[in-house]
Amino acid sequence: PLPPRLFFEAVEQSPLAISITDARATILYANRAFETLTGYARKEVLGCNESILSNRATPESIYRHLWRTIEHRQPWTGTLVNRTKGGDDYLAELTIAPVLDRGGALRYFLGMHRDVTKVH
Ligand code: FAD
Repeated sequence: PLPPRLFFEAVEQSPLAISITDARATILYANRAFETLTGYARKEVLGCNESILSNRATPESIYRHLWRTIEHRQPWTGTLVNRTKGGDDYLAELTIAPVLDRGGALRYFLGMHRDVTKVH
């Protein structure tokens, strides 16, 4: 059997920026790549909403569609413009996956994104 710690280390060391949130997008965990890409130290973003990454120019309709999808327990993939702590905008290819508890309740979301600004 795989040691449980391996699951943590695999996420922690992933080159994708990974975060785990509660059902309202409050950040509960962020991995190292999330810190590197966003410029935020983990302790700064824990307890904040993921909207801290928004560049404030993405049309609200995109967020509405995102929320409608994930609240229906479906994964959502899309591209958003995010802003780093330092104020640089980047194109984020983001997948959000719902995480259900054992009783089937929607409790958490897994967010995974990477910078696709330079991808053609
Ligand atoms: P919000 O106050 O969030 O509202 C925008 C619209 O979204 C609302 O009109 C409403 O229709 C809908 N909405 C918001 N919250 C809820 C809710 N709890 N239930 C139902 N509908 C809701 N945003 C980014 O910009 N960049 C990211 O990298 C990013 N990553 C995310 C990762 C995860 C795992 C999750 C769950 C969300 C992520 N979001 C991200 C979305 C983020 O939480 C915000 O909804 C978004 O940034 C818009 O923020 P806002 O303050 O402008 O508007």
